[in-house]
Amino acid sequence: MPNCDMCGRGAGVLKRAKIEGAVLDVCDGCAGKGEIIRIPYGGGRSFQRSVQPAREVKVVEYELASGFGKIIHNARKVREWDVKKLSEVLHAKESLMHKIEAGKIKPDLSFAQRIEHALGIKLVEKVEEDDDDVKNAGSGRGGMTLADFVKVKKVKK
Ligand SMILES: [Zn+2]
Repeated sequence: MPNCDMCGRGAGVLKRAKIEGAVLDVCDGCAGKGEIIRIPYGGGRSFQRSVQPAREVKVVEYELASGFGKIIHNARKVREWDVKKLSEVLHAKESLMHKIEAGKIKPDLSFAQRIEHALGIKLVEKVEEDDDDVKNAGSGRGGMTLADFVKVKKVKK
């Protein structure tokens, strides 16, 4: 029968407890004087691990809808917001919103996504390009900013 580290009494089951800064195996009575330490389960427990397959790195590009200005404009009208209201919601300048709606300025990716959320519309499409389908190759790859990823899709009529 193991003996309690504190009182020396024999006890059936000892508890590991921190008492006065020392970690001791003690009986029930002595354990109450300290802080019981939970003994972590050792081994035997198998966690199901999701094995991530090695993925090929794909070039992810974002395309801005060609009529983004009109989409924003229409969605804003549906909500009966004026440009001022929209610019307030987006914490953007009113003049900027006017230019975006007019299609004169392209919002960058993060801003486009904020507009999407604010108006509940879809402006940005994520495009995963395969290697053999690289369009516009050589159009400023390297030193890219997010804004460069936003391309205006030209729709042929
Ligand atoms: Zn004891």
